[in-house]
Amino acid sequence: MTARPQPRCPANDVEDSANAGKSRRTRSRLSAEKSAPPPAERPSNRTAKLPADLPAEVRWPDAAGCRDLRRKVLRWFAAHRRDLPWRRTQDPYAVWVSEVMLQQTQVVTVQDYWPRFLQRFPTVSDLAAAPIDDVLRLWQGLGYYRRAKQLHAAAGVIVQQHGGQFPTDFSQVLALPGVGRYTAGAVLSIAQQQSWPILEGNTVRLYSRLLGLASDPTTPANQQLLWRFAETIVPQCRAGDFNQGLMELGGQVCQRHQPKCGECPLRKGCVAYQTGRQAEIPAAKSRPTRWEARTECLVLLQRGPRWLGRTLPADQRWAGLWDFPRFDIGWLLTNEQDEPQWPLPPRALEWLQQQVHEQFGLRVQLQPLGEPIRHAVTRFRILLAVAQGHVAASRLSATATSAGWEWLSAAAIGDRPLSVTARQVWERQIEPRDT
Ligand code: SF4
Repeated sequence: MTARPQPRCPANDVEDSANAGKSRRTRSRLSAEKSAPPPAERPSNRTAKLPADLPAEVRWPDAAGCRDLRRKVLRWFAAHRRDLPWRRTQDPYAVWVSEVMLQQTQVVTVQDYWPRFLQRFPTVSDLAAAPIDDVLRLWQGLGYYRRAKQLHAAAGVIVQQHGGQFPTDFSQVLALPGVGRYTAGAVLSIAQQQSWPILEGNTVRLYSRLLGLASDPTTPANQQLLWRFAETIVPQCRAGDFNQGLMELGGQVCQRHQPKCGECPLRKGCVAYQTGRQAEIPAAKSRPTRWEARTECLVLLQRGPRWLGRTLPADQRWAGLWDFPRFDIGWLLTNEQDEPQWPLPPRALEWLQQQVHEQFGLRVQLQPLGEPIRHAVTRFRILLAVAQGHVAASRLSATATSAGWEWLSAAAIGDRPLSVTARQVWERQIEPRDT
């Protein structure tokens, strides 16, 4: 399959991409990306055609309104674009890395990680050839490690199927592990100015307010509607600048709380602004996130200058990262708030010592260490207690050894990609004291 031909774009061309007279097939962001609605064949006069089941409150822009919106977004972006390192390159691989990092992570954080990552893995082939441990180590602190694993897997596919060249055909990019409709469109529009629409957190909010979409924008029907709007407004030329402008406007001006409508170039055509409903739109999710509370204890077992831990296996949370022994102790807690008693009650320490003996064949006296850490991951709110103990010279059981448990020196631990909380405990409570 070939890359989509690049249109010749006059400097200020913001025409409707449909006017190129060439229809194309697009397909459907993080976990939601792969399930985004597959787009229909795009009709050449799509700007004029309203979605059949448009909610009554939505005001769909006409062709002139779309042209006006494109001009304003591009003009605003030209004047307000932030000078971010990944905006100085047109290399689709480098843009792809930035897009993956920016999912669920703030720009200020990515500004530190992106240059380091590109320095260590300057090409797709370098990334594909690296051990996953090296990739995860560089990803430490960004969280959501599944992104790094998918990035690494996709680099392997690019080397095998595309000779190490990042593909420039939408369907080939979309077929890569971890790449959904948003990422494929963002990379190809930003790196190559190909005309693909985008929909992510900031643009969901922006589009909903512009259109006056008052119901939950995360429902399948409304996601389809918002993708349709994105397809309608994306210009044939300068689509990358336009898409970045939309995301920047959504993030910097059309903020969730107290949007800066007085500074917004789109207020004239914005239904939420015109009707004073910015605080109501977008509506809250109809199904709020259900949090699950968990209480765990990280057990630091020290034998001489070494600590016990292992690389977590593929079927476990944080697979591929190195972690200390960790136990669920929620069931041991009896107070009404389901919060751990602090310091840990003697029966919890006794139970943990028993677990250490059963799982590792080691006898140890455990002591609580420091304050518990509060940590949220996906739908879990985790309260993490820490206990430590020195182990006399005794052998790790064969079962534990075969399960990957190992004694590591401080230097070796420093070289491993640690889970976020293991790293927090290591850096705050162990490293400054013992290494
Ligand atoms: S006018 Fe206000 S609510 Fe409307 S898009 Fe601009 S910042 Fe958002």
